[in-house]
Amino acid sequence: MITLKGADVSARIREEVQAALKTLDGVVPRLAIVRVGENPDDISYERGATKRMDKFGLDVRSYVFPGDIRHEDFAAEFAKINQDPENTGILLLRPLPKQIREKDIEKLMDPDKDLDGICPVNIARVFAGDESGFAPCTAEAVVEVLRANRIPISGKRVTIVGRSMVVGKPLAMLMLKEHATVTVCHTRTQDLKGACRNGEILVAAAGRAKMLDREYVGKDAIVLDVGINVDEDGKLCGDVDFDSIQDTASMATPVPGGVGAVTTAVLAKHLVQAALRKYT
Ligand code: NAP
Repeated sequence: MITLKGADVSARIREEVQAALKTLDGVVPRLAIVRVGENPDDISYERGATKRMDKFGLDVRSYVFPGDIRHEDFAAEFAKINQDPENTGILLLRPLPKQIREKDIEKLMDPDKDLDGICPVNIARVFAGDESGFAPCTAEAVVEVLRANRIPISGKRVTIVGRSMVVGKPLAMLMLKEHATVTVCHTRTQDLKGACRNGEILVAAAGRAKMLDREYVGKDAIVLDVGINVDEDGKLCGDVDFDSIQDTASMATPVPGGVGAVTTAVLAKHLVQAALRKYT
């Protein structure tokens, strides 16, 4: 089985980003990261995204608010961040604390700055197959891994486990745009094993540690593992039991070092695209 490494894909995206930056005439796009509270997952994602932007030669500014901020106060602050012309793109870390009405905040966001595809306009664009909409970075990262490794998608049976708005659903739309035949599975799927085995490309985005073992993987399938979980030994792992599929799958992404490593590279790509739209 071939291991599909995220770092190789990120390096490719970095070249694209740097070529695009040259056309921007010295303008350095700025990413605004908006965090409410001190959730360790958010902090870790913020750190990773900041590191990636630095590496790609892009600017970042973090806006951090207390976890108990009132909805009205946060909405007012968010509107200012959104309107600031220095902020080329925005990454809003979610979920937001309960007192904040997330849907209302999503609607405030300028679609051209919404790099992670969360506002209704971008969701509609992605579902319509309109490339002017930013798709959620993780969903797009899956497609980037396939593209970078020259793995054809057109006409292939793609099975996705998970139907969230962050990964499963938008990914299904991106795969349809690439002319795949898509099956989306979830907790009510009757024959999950059969559906997974039927996939020539299998994408795991359930958030269940090592849930998919060799029994779920068709012969020579290409497996993309989006899951980020912690196993019983406290180690980071995916939704796929990577060791058990070695003789079954033809290629697979590891966790860590697979799809997750590509997500922030896609975020950087979206930031530069937002700048190109604004300045050229
Ligand atoms: P989520 O919102 O919890 O959604 C999980 C989806 O998986 C749901 O649709 C759920 O079905 C389905 N599911 C859960 N258990 C299942 C089971 N036993 N059988 C079949 N389907 C099952 O999670 P998410 O936000 O999409 O994230 C999924 C995973 O990706 C997590 O591990 C997360 O950490 C990771 N992730 C990674 C990145 C990255 O950068 N690589 C970014 C985002 C998320 P129902 O709809 O029926 O409940």
